[in-house]
Amino acid sequence: MHPTQDRLQQEPQDPAQSTPDVAIFPKVDHNMLISSSRTIAIANQKGGVGKTTTALNLGAALAERGVQVLVVDADPQSNSTSGLGIDPGRARLTVYELLTGSAGVDEVAMATSVPGLWVIPSKVALAGAEIELANMDEREFRLRQGLADLTDGFGYVLIDCPPSLGLLTLNALSAADEMLVPMQCEFFALEGLAHLLYTHKLVRMQLNPHLELGGIVMTQFDARTTLFWDVVVEIQRAYPDKMFRTLIPRNVRVSEAASHGQPVIVYDPACRGAEAYRRLAEEVMSR
Ligand code: ADP
Ligand code: MG
Repeated sequence: MHPTQDRLQQEPQDPAQSTPDVAIFPKVDHNMLISSSRTIAIANQKGGVGKTTTALNLGAALAERGVQVLVVDADPQSNSTSGLGIDPGRARLTVYELLTGSAGVDEVAMATSVPGLWVIPSKVALAGAEIELANMDEREFRLRQGLADLTDGFGYVLIDCPPSLGLLTLNALSAADEMLVPMQCEFFALEGLAHLLYTHKLVRMQLNPHLELGGIVMTQFDARTTLFWDVVVEIQRAYPDKMFRTLIPRNVRVSEAASHGQPVIVYDPACRGAEAYRRLAEEVMSR
């Protein structure tokens, strides 16, 4: 664990006392006139489609461009926590404490080894939060409330959702300005997408009228399969202008990087996966 992470978890940072090598947690600046911060929920009820991979690699690529980025690991499986080099078993304060209101956002956020990239870790106990939340007031809005003290200080907040449409995902969609949907190219992809977009519609009607469909990103793409191109064409026809131009290739360096606790742009900066996530970051910033 990075020494800064330990310190951040133990005590709220006092900028006046920090040494230059310590990452300073960006606080809300209420005097700031323009807030350009965007909260993006990375959602798809299907597992294995690249939500976590996109959250941590898009996050790192955005941070590389000089903005402060916060990844919120809202999945009890904690893959984006470990993928950013933090041992979920050692994370004391997590998104669970943020949701239950027992800790504030500046207490739960941890610096990662990537400059400008922060994470609110997850832990297995978050699975129980779904049941606990069910009996709480404002149960779909706990994450939005938890993040309210933060967002002006950050350029981007990326929420990595679990593979379900339960309360954790609803909290993410209620807190977000946009929903970004990673999709793998497979035969039933379109059916899953229709279901997800129906959820998007319900969330807009009942929880968050501002939630935009930020876009669909095709992941683990293999240009050699004709099925891939068929699915791409179909999605483009069904949802014109919603698919990102950047296609994320299947690249073994991407999965290796995660198992080393690093984003791919750090692990192998010149590989195809790293280039693709940099291009995706550019596209997200330009939208
Ligand atoms: P999700 O969060 O939607 O369940 P993940 O991001 O964890 O999906 O991805 C599922 C698996 O696929 C992981 O083992 C991950 O390392 C691997 N993976 C994701 N994207 C790529 C890619 N572009 N190239 C190679 N492997 C990938
Ligand atoms: Mg995941």
